[in-house]
Amino acid sequence: MNLEDIKAVGNLLAKPQKIVIVPHKNPDGDAIGSTLALWHYLKNRGQEVRIIAPNDFPKFLKWMPGNEQIMNFERENSQSKTLIEQATIIFTLDFNHLGRIGQMEPVLKESDATFIMIDHHQAPSDYAQYMYSDVLMSSTCEMVYNFIEFLGDDDKITPEMANCIYTGIMTDTGSFKYSSTTSRTHTIVAALIDKGAENTKAHNLVYDTNTPTRLHLLGCALKNMVILKEYNTAYITLSQDELDTYDYQKGDTEGFVNYGLTLHGICFAVIFIENKEEGIIKISFRSEGNFSVNEFARKHFNGGGHTNAAGGRSDVSLQETTEYFISLLKDYKTQLNA
Ligand code: 5GP
Ligand code: MN
Repeated sequence: MNLEDIKAVGNLLAKPQKIVIVPHKNPDGDAIGSTLALWHYLKNRGQEVRIIAPNDFPKFLKWMPGNEQIMNFERENSQSKTLIEQATIIFTLDFNHLGRIGQMEPVLKESDATFIMIDHHQAPSDYAQYMYSDVLMSSTCEMVYNFIEFLGDDDKITPEMANCIYTGIMTDTGSFKYSSTTSRTHTIVAALIDKGAENTKAHNLVYDTNTPTRLHLLGCALKNMVILKEYNTAYITLSQDELDTYDYQKGDTEGFVNYGLTLHGICFAVIFIENKEEGIIKISFRSEGNFSVNEFARKHFNGGGHTNAAGGRSDVSLQETTEYFISLLKDYKTQLNA
């Protein structure tokens, strides 16, 4: 975001607006943390503002300050549509194109509000009048911190906002270990703790929330793991039957994909999760090093994301999907052995 844009956005926010903030579908810690932090900030500035999420989000995020006011477009459909129709500004956070918000896409496309994008995914599309897009950022939460600082308001970051921003940075950086974590990230995190972020509490509330059935589901996932040594690849499958057996709850499979990468020599890890209701296989891709899962997901699985973390989907069966996946790998053998 250049100086001119910051001034323009500052001027817009100096007047009373009707604001809607939207995270991506299946919102994660960064999506919920960033939208909530921005919501607190705008509300404290006296703006009329609501967060509308495309669908529900996991229980382990339902402690974050303000989470109870997040509207669910699926559940509160007509009220959500009215708010979007009346909005003068729509912030879209933590996603790069409107296809990432599912059923909300046509409704947002109808709106003549001013769109402001804050996001760190690759290849952003250009629906927003004001774009703060930076793929080098660890998280959208880090960008929301910067955004508030650009507006000269970092001294207005409350403990509630600090907790939300801290949590999103924590979840999107794998607790500050991914390569997107910079000294600037740590500087911001330090400032957030000074402003009231409760770091230990955030870790406990997000990560120490296992249920026995989730751990059993993890056991099942790890048992299903297939290691393809010649491609330095490990993949996991979970069928709908397996999810049902272990009483799957939203968010239960979060982080499972990362186990593949903890194997020595493995640089590409994938999880395929069957979703009978949507009739798709949801896929998560992770890599270590230069292999771009963003490009792989974009090219073969109708998805995208970042160089080392991306997602996608498949419309054929679980078995056909994994067979297709394996058939693709031979073209990547050199890259995967680099
Ligand atoms: P996850 O695997 O944790 O769902 O997502 C990893 C990263 O890829 C996140 O940044 C997420 O926003 C992005 N992502 C996940 N699924 C999709 C998808 O279907 N399409 C695109 N473009 N990005 C995705
Ligand atoms: Mn993010």
